[in-house]
Amino acid sequence: MENNFITVKNLTKSYGYIRALRGIDLSLAPGDFLTIFGPNGAGKSTLVKILSTLVKPSSGQVEIDGYDLTEDTQELRRLIGVISHATFLYGNLTALENIKLYGRLYNVTNLENRTDEVIEQLGLAERKHHLVRTFSRGMQQRLTIARALIHNPRIIFLDEPYTGLDQHAAHLLSALLTQLNNKERTIVLISHNLSRGLGLASRIAILVEGRIIYHQYRKDIKDADFEQLYFKYVDKEIRVN
Ligand code: ATP
Repeated sequence: MENNFITVKNLTKSYGYIRALRGIDLSLAPGDFLTIFGPNGAGKSTLVKILSTLVKPSSGQVEIDGYDLTEDTQELRRLIGVISHATFLYGNLTALENIKLYGRLYNVTNLENRTDEVIEQLGLAERKHHLVRTFSRGMQQRLTIARALIHNPRIIFLDEPYTGLDQHAAHLLSALLTQLNNKERTIVLISHNLSRGLGLASRIAILVEGRIIYHQYRKDIKDADFEQLYFKYVDKEIRVN
């Protein structure tokens, strides 16, 4: 398959003197599931924020489904769903009202049904009329995922989405991602969880100090070989056992 659905060329980002991204090149095909690993501060979130149009790059080009990142922002936002640390939820609205609000922003058709569908998918049906400020962190995270999926995006960016989820919700999310990926959604996941990240991915990358130092198809990697790389570059500082 052509690797030109998402094309990133020589992308850089500096925050003042901090060079968060130092020349990223990346090509993905539709339906790819890329997991990006990397130590704290490597630039992973910055990369995903740029790809999802939330942060402007310093230099380089990004094209997604033929749209230019800096010129076609509105078109791109319709294609993309983002799940990150920030919930972007309104505490004084109910779960249902939050999702509907986002649905209206994206002109989602058949909104009533679609809202119920995503709330059901994330296991929140019983609490849909409750104010979001009364939700636990994990429940808010579930709702954040529902919000990101309301417009049925073709591309999903996830920045450590498992944070705050209990085992059941984490399992639910993995199953949902597999299901979405099977429907040809293109997914980019940032994860600090080696087994989860490896389990879902069709491609794996390691980002260190603003550069992709490793990028491979999952099927071409032996688990043991990748673990060695992971502990060398990503998790080298803290080894509990
Ligand atoms: P983590 O695993 O800890 O979430 P990360 O790989 O996602 O890290 P980024 O959040 O992309 O890393 O940060 C990359 C670098 O850019 C870090 O040095 C960080 O301090 C810096 N940085 C990120 N956002 C900003 C900002 N808004 N202003 C200044 N510096 C920033």
